[in-house]
Amino acid sequence: MMSNPSLLILPGDGIGPEVMAEVRKIIDWFGANRGITFDVSEDLVGGAAYDAHGTPLHDDTMAKAQEVDAVLLGAVGGPKYDTLDFSVKPERGLLRLRKEMDLYSNLRPAQCFDALADFSSLKRDVVAGLDIMIVRELTSGVYFGEPRGIWDDNEGGRVGVNTQRYTTDEIRRVARSAFELARRRNNKVCSMEKANVMESGILWREEVQWVHDNEYPDVELSHMYADNGAMQLVRWPKQFDVIVTDNLFGDLLSDCAAMLTGSLGMLPSASLGAPMANGRPKALYEPVHGSAPDIAGQGKANPIACILSFAMALRYSFDLGAEADRLEAAVQQVLADGVRTADLMQKDGGTPVTTAQMGDAVVAALNTSI
Ligand code: NAD
Repeated sequence: MMSNPSLLILPGDGIGPEVMAEVRKIIDWFGANRGITFDVSEDLVGGAAYDAHGTPLHDDTMAKAQEVDAVLLGAVGGPKYDTLDFSVKPERGLLRLRKEMDLYSNLRPAQCFDALADFSSLKRDVVAGLDIMIVRELTSGVYFGEPRGIWDDNEGGRVGVNTQRYTTDEIRRVARSAFELARRRNNKVCSMEKANVMESGILWREEVQWVHDNEYPDVELSHMYADNGAMQLVRWPKQFDVIVTDNLFGDLLSDCAAMLTGSLGMLPSASLGAPMANGRPKALYEPVHGSAPDIAGQGKANPIACILSFAMALRYSFDLGAEADRLEAAVQQVLADGVRTADLMQKDGGTPVTTAQMGDAVVAALNTSI
């Protein structure tokens, strides 16, 4: 008998457990109504793990994360842990997961729900209906390259050095990830670098082209300098489908794209690694936002970013694209009906719903979808 796919849930700190409780409702809904049942286990990460074990990620939890089909994480951190030694800060738990699972491909969708188009700082027609995906290389490039450091320059000053370094394999594997995604979307990839001024950019362009020509000739590929890419993202973002870029440019471009869509409470993400024996990629899904200590414990958090992270898991880990569409459509429906957590309220008011009410509204919309 085939076993159920496995999911490790790490709610974490602050609003993490609150938003994750709403995702549990959605997971239960898919089990009860769509026959899609996961073997779900739950564990501690971040400050919660530090409180229990004196470490932000216990070795047993790390081992579990390596075994399951996908990990779903809430958020980590909070003022209570600000004075801890760097080595045991909550964020170290998350970084350890990303590093040991070798999650080299970071997916940040920028999707603008029509009902929220007025939240963007850009004009409605520029962002309404926007649905693009930024794929950022996450484990190499200038944030990791050697040599790095600050030295005396022996002339009375100092010099700060970081090294942008990419290998063929590092570029090819993230490029494959982008092409695979494009095939499930609108079949278009735009690769961004600075091949005009950086050798690593020339290599990036050549290797992405190689992967395209040899493995994904059916996908439309274009190249763009990253500075022009930033401009185009703000000018007319709907020209893009999948953007693939390195760690540094991806850091900037994905934040820029995120703001096209409005609230932090709406943004999901995925970090994917190499395929496992069963063909599924190593995968960690999490909202982009943090633990929001300013609203934690008050039922004010918007659970949609975390719910949409689960939709990404359905699509990218479990090949359940139609069910992911169903969940995203339910979110769209709820927003179109005017259901709003506090972060989605316009200044002139209305009454916001609680975190739990938002989760219930999504479940109610799912009920009408079958
Ligand atoms: P944050 O994302 O937690 O909060 C920024 C602002 O957005 C706050 O005003 C918050 O109330 C609001 N916000 C965030 N998520 C929301 C949601 N779902 N619904 C409604 N409002 C929401 O960022 P921060 O304040 O800079 O960091 C707080 C803590 O989170 C810090 O300890 C930081 O290190 C940590 N952090 C963790 C992650 C992560 O777990 N991936 C990411 C960023 C920050």
